[in-house]
Amino acid sequence: MIRVAILGSTGSIGQSALQVVARHPDRFQVVTLAAHSRVEALRAQVEKFAPRLAVLADESVSLPANSTSTRWQSGRQALIAAAADPEVDVVLNALVGAAGLEPTLAALRAGHRLALANKESLVAGGALVIRAAELGGGEIVPIDSEHSAILQCLAGSKADEVRRLVLTASGGPFRGRNPEDLWHVQPEDALRHPTWNMGAKITIDSATLANKALEIIEAHYLYGLAYDRIEAVVHPQSIIHSFVEFVDGSVLSQLGLPTMELPILYALSYPERVEDETLRTYDPVQSSPLTFEEIDQAAFPLFGLGVEAGVKGGAVPAAYNAGNEIAVHAFLEGRIRFPEMADVVCGAIEGVGVGQLTSVEDVLAVDGTARAVAMEVVHRLGEARMGTTS
Ligand code: NAD
Ligand code: MG
Repeated sequence: MIRVAILGSTGSIGQSALQVVARHPDRFQVVTLAAHSRVEALRAQVEKFAPRLAVLADESVSLPANSTSTRWQSGRQALIAAAADPEVDVVLNALVGAAGLEPTLAALRAGHRLALANKESLVAGGALVIRAAELGGGEIVPIDSEHSAILQCLAGSKADEVRRLVLTASGGPFRGRNPEDLWHVQPEDALRHPTWNMGAKITIDSATLANKALEIIEAHYLYGLAYDRIEAVVHPQSIIHSFVEFVDGSVLSQLGLPTMELPILYALSYPERVEDETLRTYDPVQSSPLTFEEIDQAAFPLFGLGVEAGVKGGAVPAAYNAGNEIAVHAFLEGRIRFPEMADVVCGAIEGVGVGQLTSVEDVLAVDGTARAVAMEVVHRLGEARMGTTS
């Protein structure tokens, strides 16, 4: 029996993970559920799965009473401690944003398997995360569909046999749009993703293609390849989840209809495969044709900026990530326009500089500075708009 802690259980990935686990009660047991502040949603999950521990990160919410099966805790430290709990085998990190970094580090230091959806923790603290895994003996198994595809294609091959990785991207809801049009798109347009149903933050990241830059950085850390050997291509049908090119020129890929339940199940059962007949399978004729195109870097500058941040390294990816979190939030609140998200992120990167990150405190400091600078840019853009409309 594999004991699973699900951090971010009330979110899109968290709920999918619970669906998967519920179908395989003979293999997986939910021992911890954690979320931010939606106490009623978490309480319903606790009633169904009876975990030993339920955690709400937000201390201001009042907690339900402990029951015979479940102890309730609140606060950030309780969340981090839950990730390090020795009575857990797999920590599934489905938190959103850099808030996932400390739980990621705690799980790896404790020697757990980390089933990782929270890519922002690798982007903000990549080198630290890899070091925590080496020191603590923990293992990262990605949930992100592209990285799961790569892991599946790599099975049985040696690291020096890989020449190139090509991540696929759906292109998001604004694929093919003229950059000028993007000044007029609204949050609700950006939230309408053509192929995936996900949380708001990653849905906006998919619309700007920042998500693909975050994923290139994620792949760099997970698979140890230099940035000039990791590329991305638009594949609007989201059937092929990535390509791995080997040194002899052979290319492998993994295919499947777009559902996160498959990579979640694989991350929990890896290196084994578990029989699951619930998920609809790929039919080549039904899904035909499969097409590919280049990323439009003029329309989606956050992609190039993010890859550049990865190449620069040091504090820059953490600043990019933090600036992006602020930008997405401001766009969703209607405070800035879609193309202005790139200005906010540029401001955050310039405000921080390159620097080196040697501890989690360094990362948190850069994250904080980048957020503050990004918020100033949001504010300035708002004032400039008031100036032009009055
Ligand atoms: P979501 O917004 O639907 O859910 C986020 C979860 O994290 C919620 O349970 C929320 O309560 C919790 N949370 C948020 N902030 C928190 C904080 N500060 N402290 C504690 N808990 C907090 O997000 P999602 O779409 O499920 O995405 C989760 C992660 O998985 C993201 O990093 C995303 O990039 C990645 N991911 C998601 C998908 C997808 O299909 N949704 C696919 C690939 C990768
Ligand atoms: Mg992905």
